[in-house]
Amino acid sequence: MSNKKEIREYHIAGSKLVCTICNSSLFWTRETLMNTVGMSLMNLDWANKRATNFVCDKCGYVHWFLEK
Ligand SMILES: [Zn+2]
Repeated sequence: MSNKKEIREYHIAGSKLVCTICNSSLFWTRETLMNTVGMSLMNLDWANKRATNFVCDKCGYVHWFLEK
């Protein structure tokens, strides 16, 4: 189940998420720990936070959102 990509529209803070590049509104998501992408060296508070990646199904552009 967790490997299955769910492709749909998403709303962020009340606004429909639209791809910056191609204007598509269909995305699939994945979660990433910020410290897996080399940020932990900087020792910042947000280094261990999770980020949600919304990946455009059309062009592949990744939109990152940090968990608050
Ligand atoms: Zn796109």
